[in-house]
Amino acid sequence: MQFTRLRLQGFKSFVDSTELVIAPGLTGVVGPNGCGKSNLLEALRWVMGETSAKAMRGDGMEDVIFAGASTRPARSYAEVAIHIDNSDFTAPAEFNKTDQLDIIRRITRDAGSAFRLNGKELRARDVRMLFADASTGAHSPALVRQGRISELINAKPKARRAILEEAAGIGGLYQRRHEAELKLRAAEDNLLRVSDVLEKLD
Ligand code: ATP
Repeated sequence: MQFTRLRLQGFKSFVDSTELVIAPGLTGVVGPNGCGKSNLLEALRWVMGETSAKAMRGDGMEDVIFAGASTRPARSYAEVAIHIDNSDFTAPAEFNKTDQLDIIRRITRDAGSAFRLNGKELRARDVRMLFADASTGAHSPALVRQGRISELINAKPKARRAILEEAAGIGGLYQRRHEAELKLRAAEDNLLRVSDVLEKLD
Protein backbone atom coordinates (compact mmCIF):
# COMPACT_ATOMS: atom_id res chain seq x y z
CA MET A 1 0.00 0.00 0.00
CA GLN A 2 1.43 3.32 -1.10
CA PHE A 3 0.30 6.92 -0.54
CA THR A 4 0.16 8.43 -4.01
CA ARG A 5 -1.74 11.75 -3.77
CA LEU A 6 -2.65 14.31 -1.15
CA ARG A 7 -5.36 16.88 -1.83
CA LEU A 8 -6.10 19.87 0.38
CA GLN A 9 -8.91 22.39 0.23
CA GLY A 10 -9.53 25.21 2.72
CA PHE A 11 -6.93 23.61 5.01
CA LYS A 12 -4.86 26.30 6.77
CA SER A 13 -3.02 28.33 4.10
CA PHE A 14 -4.15 25.96 1.27
CA VAL A 15 -7.39 27.81 0.52
CA ASP A 16 -7.74 26.62 -3.10
CA SER A 17 -7.84 22.95 -4.00
CA THR A 18 -4.21 21.78 -4.15
CA GLU A 19 -3.08 18.32 -5.15
CA LEU A 20 0.36 16.85 -4.49
CA VAL A 21 1.81 13.73 -6.00
CA ILE A 22 3.67 11.52 -3.51
CA ALA A 23 6.30 9.50 -5.35
CA PRO A 24 7.79 6.28 -3.95
CA GLY A 25 10.79 6.73 -1.62
CA LEU A 26 11.78 9.59 0.61
CA THR A 27 9.90 12.87 0.18
CA GLY A 28 11.28 16.18 1.40
CA VAL A 29 9.36 19.46 1.40
CA VAL A 30 11.42 22.58 0.86
CA GLY A 31 10.44 26.23 0.48
CA PRO A 32 10.79 29.70 2.02
CA ASN A 33 9.68 30.46 5.58
CA GLY A 34 5.93 30.55 5.99
CA CYS A 35 5.11 28.96 2.61
CA GLY A 36 3.18 26.09 4.24
CA LYS A 37 5.66 23.20 4.60
CA SER A 38 4.53 22.35 8.13
CA ASN A 39 0.88 22.80 7.10
CA LEU A 40 1.37 20.06 4.50
CA LEU A 41 2.75 17.60 7.02
CA GLU A 42 -0.05 18.51 9.40
CA ALA A 43 -2.61 17.83 6.66
CA LEU A 44 -1.19 14.34 6.25
CA ARG A 45 -1.35 13.70 10.00
CA TRP A 46 -4.84 15.19 10.22
CA VAL A 47 -6.32 12.96 7.50
CA MET A 48 -4.84 9.96 9.33
CA GLY A 49 -6.92 10.84 12.38
CA GLU A 50 -4.96 13.34 14.51
CA THR A 51 -7.14 14.27 17.51
CA SER A 52 -5.00 16.96 19.13
CA ALA A 53 -5.64 20.55 18.04
CA LYS A 54 -2.43 21.49 19.84
CA ALA A 55 -0.47 19.13 17.58
CA MET A 56 -2.02 21.10 14.69
CA ARG A 57 -0.72 24.30 16.32
CA GLY A 58 -4.27 25.49 17.06
CA ASP A 59 -6.49 26.16 20.08
CA GLY A 60 -9.38 24.15 18.63
CA MET A 61 -9.65 21.76 15.69
CA GLU A 62 -11.60 24.35 13.64
CA ASP A 63 -8.41 26.42 13.52
CA VAL A 64 -7.32 24.21 10.61
CA ILE A 65 -10.00 25.89 8.45
CA PHE A 66 -8.67 28.74 6.27
CA ALA A 67 -9.19 31.79 8.49
CA GLY A 68 -9.30 34.40 5.69
CA ALA A 69 -6.82 36.96 4.42
CA SER A 70 -7.04 40.61 3.38
CA THR A 71 -8.10 39.58 -0.13
CA ARG A 72 -10.07 36.38 0.62
CA PRO A 73 -12.89 35.54 2.99
CA ALA A 74 -12.59 32.69 5.51
CA ARG A 75 -13.83 29.25 4.49
CA SER A 76 -16.60 27.34 6.25
CA TYR A 77 -14.89 23.98 5.92
CA ALA A 78 -11.53 22.30 5.38
CA GLU A 79 -10.98 19.02 3.61
CA VAL A 80 -7.96 16.76 3.17
CA ALA A 81 -7.98 13.64 1.01
CA ILE A 82 -5.34 10.94 0.77
CA HIS A 83 -5.26 8.56 -2.14
CA ILE A 84 -3.72 5.14 -1.45
CA ASP A 85 -2.67 2.67 -4.10
CA ASN A 86 -3.46 -0.78 -2.69
CA SER A 87 -2.80 -2.73 -5.90
CA ASP A 88 -0.40 -4.99 -3.96
CA PHE A 89 -3.31 -5.76 -1.58
CA THR A 90 -1.28 -5.18 1.56
CA ALA A 91 -3.82 -2.97 3.38
CA PRO A 92 -5.02 -4.31 6.76
CA ALA A 93 -7.58 -7.13 6.32
CA GLU A 94 -10.85 -5.17 6.75
CA PHE A 95 -9.78 -2.63 4.13
CA ASN A 96 -8.13 -4.99 1.70
CA LYS A 97 -11.06 -5.43 -0.68
CA THR A 98 -10.20 -2.75 -3.23
CA ASP A 99 -7.02 -1.74 -5.01
CA GLN A 100 -7.63 2.00 -4.37
CA LEU A 101 -8.40 3.62 -1.04
CA ASP A 102 -9.58 7.23 -0.88
CA ILE A 103 -9.81 8.62 2.62
CA ILE A 104 -11.31 12.06 3.13
CA ARG A 105 -11.58 14.06 6.33
CA ARG A 106 -13.70 17.18 6.37
CA ILE A 107 -14.31 19.63 9.19
CA THR A 108 -17.17 22.11 8.99
CA ARG A 109 -17.51 25.08 11.36
CA ASP A 110 -19.82 24.21 14.29
CA ALA A 111 -20.40 20.70 12.91
CA GLY A 112 -17.18 18.84 13.74
CA SER A 113 -15.27 16.51 11.47
CA ALA A 114 -16.18 13.37 9.56
CA PHE A 115 -14.28 10.72 7.62
CA ARG A 116 -15.17 8.90 4.41
CA LEU A 117 -13.50 5.88 2.85
CA ASN A 118 -14.29 5.37 -0.83
CA GLY A 119 -17.39 7.53 -0.35
CA LYS A 120 -18.73 5.75 2.74
CA GLU A 121 -18.72 7.31 6.20
CA LEU A 122 -16.24 5.80 8.61
CA ARG A 123 -15.54 6.24 12.34
CA ALA A 124 -12.40 8.17 13.33
CA ARG A 125 -11.36 5.14 15.38
CA ASP A 126 -11.45 2.89 12.30
CA VAL A 127 -9.33 5.33 10.30
CA ARG A 128 -6.74 5.42 13.09
CA MET A 129 -6.75 1.60 13.26
CA LEU A 130 -6.28 1.30 9.50
CA PHE A 131 -3.15 3.42 9.62
CA ALA A 132 -1.86 1.93 12.89
CA ASP A 133 -2.16 -1.59 11.46
CA ALA A 134 -0.33 -0.40 8.35
CA SER A 135 2.52 0.84 10.62
CA THR A 136 1.81 4.49 9.95
CA GLY A 137 -0.57 7.17 11.22
CA ALA A 138 -0.68 10.66 12.67
CA HIS A 139 2.26 9.91 14.97
CA SER A 140 4.31 7.89 12.53
CA PRO A 141 8.07 8.38 12.91
CA ALA A 142 8.16 8.40 9.10
CA LEU A 143 6.79 11.97 9.23
CA VAL A 144 9.72 14.06 10.33
CA ARG A 145 8.69 17.59 11.29
CA GLN A 146 11.04 20.47 12.08
CA GLY A 147 12.96 19.95 15.32
CA ARG A 148 12.12 16.24 15.44
CA ILE A 149 15.66 15.00 14.84
CA SER A 150 17.08 16.85 17.87
CA GLU A 151 14.08 15.65 19.92
CA LEU A 152 14.93 12.06 18.98
CA ILE A 153 18.58 12.49 19.93
CA ASN A 154 17.63 13.93 23.33
CA ALA A 155 14.67 11.56 23.98
CA LYS A 156 14.54 9.47 27.18
CA PRO A 157 14.63 5.65 26.70
CA LYS A 158 10.85 5.31 27.34
CA ALA A 159 10.04 7.87 24.63
CA ARG A 160 12.47 6.18 22.24
CA ARG A 161 10.80 2.83 22.89
CA ALA A 162 7.42 4.37 21.98
CA ILE A 163 8.92 5.55 18.67
CA LEU A 164 10.30 2.07 17.92
CA GLU A 165 6.94 0.47 18.79
CA GLU A 166 5.15 2.87 16.49
CA ALA A 167 7.61 2.00 13.68
CA ALA A 168 7.15 -1.72 14.36
CA GLY A 169 3.40 -1.30 13.81
CA ILE A 170 2.19 -2.44 17.20
CA GLY A 171 0.37 0.82 18.04
CA GLY A 172 -2.92 -0.74 16.89
CA LEU A 173 -2.41 -3.67 19.26
CA TYR A 174 -2.02 -1.31 22.23
CA GLN A 175 -5.24 0.48 21.25
CA ARG A 176 -7.09 -2.85 20.97
CA ARG A 177 -5.71 -4.00 24.34
CA HIS A 178 -6.90 -0.73 25.93
CA GLU A 179 -10.39 -1.19 24.44
CA ALA A 180 -10.50 -4.85 25.57
CA GLU A 181 -9.48 -3.83 29.12
CA LEU A 182 -12.28 -1.24 29.24
CA LYS A 183 -14.81 -3.87 28.12
CA LEU A 184 -13.48 -6.34 30.70
CA ARG A 185 -13.82 -3.76 33.48
CA ALA A 186 -17.41 -3.00 32.40
CA ALA A 187 -18.21 -6.75 32.38
CA GLU A 188 -16.71 -7.15 35.87
CA ASP A 189 -18.85 -4.25 37.16
CA ASN A 190 -21.94 -5.89 35.65
CA LEU A 191 -21.07 -9.22 37.29
CA LEU A 192 -20.72 -7.51 40.68
CA ARG A 193 -24.11 -5.89 40.24
CA VAL A 194 -25.67 -9.25 39.28
CA SER A 195 -24.21 -10.95 42.37
CA ASP A 196 -25.59 -8.09 44.55
CA VAL A 197 -29.04 -8.63 43.08
CA LEU A 198 -28.77 -12.42 43.56
CA GLU A 199 -27.76 -11.93 47.21
CA LYS A 200 -30.81 -9.76 47.82
CA LEU A 201 -33.07 -12.39 46.26
CA ASP A 202 -31.70 -15.19 48.54
P1 ATP B 1 8.71 27.82 8.47
O1 ATP B 1 9.75 27.37 7.51
O2 ATP B 1 8.90 29.24 8.89
O3 ATP B 1 8.50 26.91 9.64
P2 ATP B 1 6.48 26.75 6.94
O4 ATP B 1 6.80 26.71 5.48
O5 ATP B 1 6.55 25.46 7.69
O6 ATP B 1 7.30 27.88 7.66
P3 ATP B 1 3.78 26.87 7.82
O7 ATP B 1 4.05 27.03 9.28
O8 ATP B 1 3.35 25.56 7.30
O9 ATP B 1 5.04 27.40 7.03
O10 ATP B 1 2.69 27.93 7.33
C1 ATP B 1 2.52 29.11 8.00
C2 ATP B 1 1.50 29.94 7.24
O11 ATP B 1 0.24 29.32 7.29
C3 ATP B 1 1.36 31.30 7.90
O12 ATP B 1 1.42 32.29 6.89
C4 ATP B 1 0.01 31.26 8.53
O13 ATP B 1 -0.63 32.50 8.53
C5 ATP B 1 -0.73 30.30 7.60
N1 ATP B 1 -1.88 29.67 8.28
C6 ATP B 1 -1.87 28.78 9.29
N2 ATP B 1 -3.13 28.46 9.67
C7 ATP B 1 -3.96 29.17 8.86
C8 ATP B 1 -5.38 29.29 8.73
N3 ATP B 1 -6.22 28.60 9.51
N4 ATP B 1 -5.86 30.10 7.79
C9 ATP B 1 -5.02 30.81 6.98
N5 ATP B 1 -3.69 30.75 7.03
C10 ATP B 1 -3.16 29.94 7.96
